[in-house]
Amino acid sequence: MDLRTDVPHSARMYDYYLGGKDNFSADRDAAAKALEIFPDIAVAAQANRRFLGRAVRFAAGLGIRQYLDIGTGIPAADNTHEVAQAVAPDSRVVYVDNDPIVLTHARALLAGTAEGRTAYLDADFRDHEKILSAPETAELLDFTQPVALLTVALLHFVPDADGPGDLLERYKAPLPPGSVMIFSQATADLVSDPDQSRAVVSSYTASGVNLTVRSRDRIEEFFTGWDLVDPGVAPVTEWRQDGDPKDAALTPAQAGAFGGVAVKP
Ligand code: SAH
Repeated sequence: MDLRTDVPHSARMYDYYLGGKDNFSADRDAAAKALEIFPDIAVAAQANRRFLGRAVRFAAGLGIRQYLDIGTGIPAADNTHEVAQAVAPDSRVVYVDNDPIVLTHARALLAGTAEGRTAYLDADFRDHEKILSAPETAELLDFTQPVALLTVALLHFVPDADGPGDLLERYKAPLPPGSVMIFSQATADLVSDPDQSRAVVSSYTASGVNLTVRSRDRIEEFFTGWDLVDPGVAPVTEWRQDGDPKDAALTPAQAGAFGGVAVKP
C-alpha cells in the first residue's frame, strides 16, 4: 500500500491538529502553513471532535444503536463506537474512509465491547452504491431500525462539482424514520475577515488538498426534509455544550465550522 507520505493528506493534517502522532513532515508543513494564516485551526479541529462526541451521545440518548460513520479519520480519543458503546454496549458502527493511512489503523476501530460490533470499509463517500451494498453494512446495520449517518468534517473535502447534496440524499433515502444525521463542515461565515478564510482555502489547495467552505444556507440545505434539533445549525462549539470549559472559552470565529443534528420524520 502506498501511503504517499511525501504529499499532505487531510486525515493526517487533522491528526496533527488533534495532537496525534500519525502524520508526516509533508502533513505538518501543510498544516503549519494553514496555522500561520488561521492559528485557531487546531482548537477548531479539537472543538469539532468534541461536537462529534456530544452528537453521538445525543443520538444514543434517542435510542440509536447503529451508526454509519463516513470520513472516520485516524483513530483518536473518543471514536464513535467508544462514545456510543459507553452509553449502550450493544451499539454497532460501520466506519468508512478512503485514506490508506486510516485503513492501516482500522484495527483500533474494530475493538469494541463484546456486545457491540464495528466494521471498517475502505471506500469513498462518493461511491454510495459500494458503501450501502457492502456485506459489512448489511451485516451490522438493520435498515428497518433507525440509523445515525455521520459525515463529520467530511463534506468540506467534497467539492460542489461532485454534488455533495445529491450524494447525501442517496444515504438519507434508505434510512427509516427516526434516523439521525450528524453533520459538520468548515465555513467562512464565522470569521470577520473573509480574506482569512480565502487564504486558508488557498493554502490547502496549494498543498494539494481540496477544501470547500460553505455558508450556513448551503449547510442547512444538506438537512432538507429532516428536522433539525435545537439549536439547529450552529458553530460546533455552541451545539449543545456539555459544560466542558474548552467550548465555553472559544468564540464561534475560532470554531470555524457549523454542526447540526437532524432526525428523519
Ligand atoms: N469524522 C472525523 C474525522 C474528520 S477528518 C472527525 O470529525 O473527527 C476527515 C476525514 O474524511 C479524513 O479521514 C479523510 O481521509 C476523510 N475523507 C475525505 N474525503 C473522503 C471521501 N471522499 N470519502 C471518504 N472519506 C473521505
